[in-house]
Amino acid sequence: MLGDLMDRVDAIAKELLEKYEGVDRKEIIEKLKKLLIEFKVPENEARRTMENYIMREYGIPRESVRETFTRIGDITEAGKWVNVKAKVIQIWESSSPSIAQTGLIGDESGVIRFLMWTKANKPPLVEGKSYIFRNVVVDDFGNVLRLNINRTSEIVEVNEDIEVKPLENLREDIEVVGALVAIQQNSGLIQRCSVEGCNRVVKSGKCPIHGKVRPVEDLRIKGVIDDGERTYEVIINEDGVKELTGIDIEKAIKMAEEHFDRGVVLAELKTLLLGKYLKVTGSLTPRYLIARKVEFYRPQIRDEVDKLLAELEG
Ligand SMILES: [Zn+2]
Repeated sequence: MLGDLMDRVDAIAKELLEKYEGVDRKEIIEKLKKLLIEFKVPENEARRTMENYIMREYGIPRESVRETFTRIGDITEAGKWVNVKAKVIQIWESSSPSIAQTGLIGDESGVIRFLMWTKANKPPLVEGKSYIFRNVVVDDFGNVLRLNINRTSEIVEVNEDIEVKPLENLREDIEVVGALVAIQQNSGLIQRCSVEGCNRVVKSGKCPIHGKVRPVEDLRIKGVIDDGERTYEVIINEDGVKELTGIDIEKAIKMAEEHFDRGVVLAELKTLLLGKYLKVTGSLTPRYLIARKVEFYRPQIRDEVDKLLAELEG
């Protein structure tokens, strides 16, 4: 605990020394230690107190101090506390009561996920608006870095339209573990348009663009995965479906023919997969999580419980 606090003292001191030239490091450290450890002043208040002290003591005019922000593209490791200025690109629906909001923010250098804890007690962010995020901490979630907005963070809306790195570059690789809570229509054995480059789903033999076409059979799942924090619209292709269920296109076509009904494939996939925990690795586009690899997930806690029960019974 004290170690954590000393890390925070060092981090704030570093920040202040970068911002204000010619300030005595030892003095800053001593005063911060007093504020944070001895007097247990909250971090933001300690920082503010120190800034006021420095400006007063070193005769630095307030107007001449420019706040510096970490560029989002430069955020590369977890555990760091940063200040960023960014625009809210997307807000995702949170599936957990402990999370107020989650989504994406960006600046001209990059884009990053954010998570606002309900306990942070902050007014909700609005898509398209820009903010200064002070004192947010970087963590690592499923190999993807994320900014956490907590109680000590400070959020100020800015009247500025921040340019954001174009969205087509926004394809991050991500690993998600969650329950498959829905399988949507247009899943199972579907037909696609055979016109080159189209690939649209064909209904009753008709492509919405090309009209009546010779369809190509395909097998996929369009579903919803809930990882306890948010929901993802996931797309699992034929390889993934086969990996999970042993059903490939040939088998699916056979099932449909035997029952004179294509719907049996979707019904079977629902029986086999709905409510199951999956581990999905893939790329996250603004709308979809496109699975590259998918497997059933057996939480380790389950193994441990089983082991414990075995020990008790043995
Ligand atoms: Zn088409």
